[in-house]
Amino acid sequence: MAKQLLGKEVAAALNEKIKAQAAALKEKGVNPTLAIVRVGERPDDLSYERGATKRCDMLGVAVEKFVLPADVSQEGLMEVIQKVNEDASIHGVLIFRPLPSQIDEEAVIKALKPEKDVDGITDGSMVGVFAGTDQGFPPCTPQACMEILDHYGIDCTGKKAVVVGRSLVVGKPAAMMLIKKNATVTVCHTRTKDMPAVTREADILVVAAGRAGVIDETYVAPGQIVIDVGINVNEEGKLCGDVKYQAVEPVVEAITPVPGGVGAVTTSVLVGHVVEAARRTVK
Ligand code: NAP
Repeated sequence: MAKQLLGKEVAAALNEKIKAQAAALKEKGVNPTLAIVRVGERPDDLSYERGATKRCDMLGVAVEKFVLPADVSQEGLMEVIQKVNEDASIHGVLIFRPLPSQIDEEAVIKALKPEKDVDGITDGSMVGVFAGTDQGFPPCTPQACMEILDHYGIDCTGKKAVVVGRSLVVGKPAAMMLIKKNATVTVCHTRTKDMPAVTREADILVVAAGRAGVIDETYVAPGQIVIDVGINVNEEGKLCGDVKYQAVEPVVEAITPVPGGVGAVTTSVLVGHVVEAARRTVK
């Protein structure tokens, strides 16, 4: 039976670290603060906002909300971005996307200062990820995958890592972060030929395809570590990953469940970024 890599265990350890860092900052007179910029009242945004606010409260991070009507103009939104950029008491900014169609989303992202980009959406943050430097912040989801590997003491040095998916938000940054951890990395996508032959060679397999059950027992081999990033809804209306858990779990060495894996770590990573952004202002 494979070891389950549980997101809540990873998040609990991260939370302790973040809480201590936030308290230390407060002793120095710095109150780590996240600005949430929300346009409209989309249920997904509201639910994420509730989760992020609760986690911030729990860890000693303040939240300032900037809520704009769904028909806000480009200028109206840009003014808010300028305000949060310039406000030294705000350390991190989370902008809910997609933005409504009247908004030039790229212009909004470009306007955000990378040092406050705790969600890892700016070009500046991407440069940091690709260069392996501290510029900006990596997107939270691939970092959550790395936190899981670190927490369970999985050393990537010299290992073969295969990432399924090449999106800018998960696949590509995950590949770069694995390279930084000294893994030898292959990235698969929809044009990859004989993907099972490639994925079976992996020591560490990170799956971010966004297709329920795309990885079955024919794609895996004994001894592998499998990180399932996918969040899908199956035919029965239940949350499931990109990996067929029941079929893959008996074969591999360790695996993240869905739900309860990567998704359980991402909010803590976001809050951790806010605290780190605040720490960088006092260093
Ligand atoms: P995306 O933008 O749709 O990208 C999916 C990638 O997977 C693409 O590069 C695509 O290849 C590749 N792909 C799709 N089907 C494939 C297949 N059958 N074989 C090989 N490659 C395949 O998705 P994303 O934003 O990266 O998200 C990926 C998954 O992670 C989704 O399920 C999403 O819900 C989930 N997610 C989870 C979290 C979390 O907190 N756990 C956060 C964000 C996203 P091409 O480039 O060739 O099209």
